[in-house]
Amino acid sequence: MTHLHRWMLAAGSALALLAAACQTVPVTGRQQIILISPGEELSLGEAAYKKTLTSSKLSQDQAAADMVRRVGQRIAAAANRPDYQWEFNLVEDQTPNAFALPGGKVAVHTGILPFTKDETGLAVVMGHEIAHAIARHGAERMSTGLLTGIAGKTAAIVFGGGDPQTEQQVEQAFGIGAGVGVMLPFGRNQESEADEIGLFLMAKAGYDPRQSIEFWKRMEQAKDGKPPEFLSTHPSDETRIKRIEGWMPEAMRIYEAQAR
Ligand SMILES: [Zn+2]
Repeated sequence: MTHLHRWMLAAGSALALLAAACQTVPVTGRQQIILISPGEELSLGEAAYKKTLTSSKLSQDQAAADMVRRVGQRIAAAANRPDYQWEFNLVEDQTPNAFALPGGKVAVHTGILPFTKDETGLAVVMGHEIAHAIARHGAERMSTGLLTGIAGKTAAIVFGGGDPQTEQQVEQAFGIGAGVGVMLPFGRNQESEADEIGLFLMAKAGYDPRQSIEFWKRMEQAKDGKPPEFLSTHPSDETRIKRIEGWMPEAMRIYEAQAR
């Protein structure tokens, strides 16, 4: 093999790797680079969820937990991911937060319920979080920048190998902020994308998408006191509401079509 041939082979396999790594986000069509396989991502998500649930307390409020399940199931049906094993839990935690992991594992903190107020408000939050999961934002974060070391490690190595630092990085990449360390912010693009996909999901699930604007206004007001963690890394609410208004005509079409 000549030197040139070797070089061409190497360049070819690098290109093939990059092509495999380049994915398209559902709904928005954005191109993203993901260096971990869907299988690895799923098992990391499930291991992180198991760990979170064993170290936290489930809410004893049966009515609220049932509401979380009901809203979750409707959003999940709209997301149309039969490969996901959905699970919805309400966790006793005063931090206003929620997260959804690849594979369909979702947790809502009791601390966000005063802001969501009713089922439609909860659908805004769950739609947004489920959107992060189906758009593979956690895997994208693990594939770029800070978290590159995770690519190629399996859940057994990360969660079974007693490597607390890597465990914590995986949790941060998935947006699990249950009192462990600092929340790693999702990127601005990812936040906006979760808002957009989440809005369409809630509309498709039969929740009035216009209520999302009311929810974000409530969160905005709450920021005057102690900023809720759910918001601390998110784009300014004014920009967010403007963008949501831009997507609203399409969301209303989806909402009205499902009501027929
Ligand atoms: Zn988010």
